[in-house]
Amino acid sequence: MATQTEPHSPLYATYARADIDVARGEGAWLVAQDGRRFLDFSGGIAVNVLGHAHPHLVAALKAQAETLWHTSNLFRIPGQDRLARRLTEATFADQAFFTNSGAEALECAIKTARRYQYVNGRPERYRIVTFEGAFHGRTLATIAAGGQAKYLEGFGPKVEGFDQVPFADLDALEAAITPQTAAILIEPIQGEGGIRSATPEFLRALRRLADANDLLLIYDEVQTGVGRTGRFYAYEASGVAPDIMASAKGIGGGFPLGVCLATQEAAAGMTPGTHGTTYGGNPLAMAVGNAVLDVVLEDGFLDAVRDRALQFRQGLSGLIDRFPDLFQELRGEGLLIGLKMRTPNTDFILELRRHLMLAVPAGDNVVRILPPLNVQEDEVREGLARLDAAAEAVRAARKETAA
Ligand SMILES: *Cc1c(COP(=O)(O)O)cnc(C)c1O
Repeated sequence: MATQTEPHSPLYATYARADIDVARGEGAWLVAQDGRRFLDFSGGIAVNVLGHAHPHLVAALKAQAETLWHTSNLFRIPGQDRLARRLTEATFADQAFFTNSGAEALECAIKTARRYQYVNGRPERYRIVTFEGAFHGRTLATIAAGGQAKYLEGFGPKVEGFDQVPFADLDALEAAITPQTAAILIEPIQGEGGIRSATPEFLRALRRLADANDLLLIYDEVQTGVGRTGRFYAYEASGVAPDIMASAKGIGGGFPLGVCLATQEAAAGMTPGTHGTTYGGNPLAMAVGNAVLDVVLEDGFLDAVRDRALQFRQGLSGLIDRFPDLFQELRGEGLLIGLKMRTPNTDFILELRRHLMLAVPAGDNVVRILPPLNVQEDEVREGLARLDAAAEAVRAARKETAA
């Protein structure tokens, strides 16, 4: 499905890239240098919540570029206070630490949980329980947290302190909690793992277990946050708040930005000098982050996301009914859409690309569809038509090979 990086490429060969040289973007459309126009429902992997080149984000970035880019965190950055205030007012959290990526937001979450136990007189509690199929990033600690062999292999000893249990297995979780456990870390909906949702009952059980054992509950909402599921954060649907939460991807609308959010109690150990970042929360990032919230928190925006999601999901249910030989089920919430396939997901994604539509694979043989949150009704219809045409082509090709 993808061309190999050339033997003499000056780039690390870590990605098998698609045969598309990107040129520019317009809303839900990505234009290649050869002029092909793709319906971009890959969304920069759940990043481009407002599509490409949204005028409000462009204006905010331009204005800030002419004013002040970067200062370090040795000074007060008013945009940081403003964005932190808006995020904490809209969530369970009291305090925020800004980063440049999701993995760094997770690193901050892990450090915050360990320090919480440490300053509360329980330094022996540093272990964190995580779930099979999880993805928390590519730093040494976050690959240990994710626990996937394919990301750990060859990188030396796995960072200590992560205990993994099967997804949504409460008995295994209870058995994994020891006097050394500091926290439980979970994605309310696993993204890379194949758009697998934890039930509200399961999240409630986690909250009860955490409270009963003096553990912190950490959510990784790097992929599910900032309106993707039709709520500002996915956990709102369950009503079960965490103590700490990592957010990134959508929060910068394409500008590298992440944040670790926490209650004041959970963040009590993060005193001056305990953590830091050179770039995190710089004025450029804050200008764009605030501009994203201007749109996402506007009255009616999330209602519109839920309307579009309903339209898309009804269409996809029809697609599954028409092609039960290709599709097994529809997964996810809002515009975090997973199609669990019976045929190889990568083949279908390649066929979609031939029909000038972009989607992303996920684990468990799932096709991920991540439109911009401001996608238009006719673009959803167009997407459904291209999905149908690609499914028809895959079915025809399979019949041909079988014959
Ligand atoms: C993408 C992702 C991360 C890592 O984010 P990066 O910005 O790539 O470091 C962590 N957790 C989840 C759930 C993600 O989807």
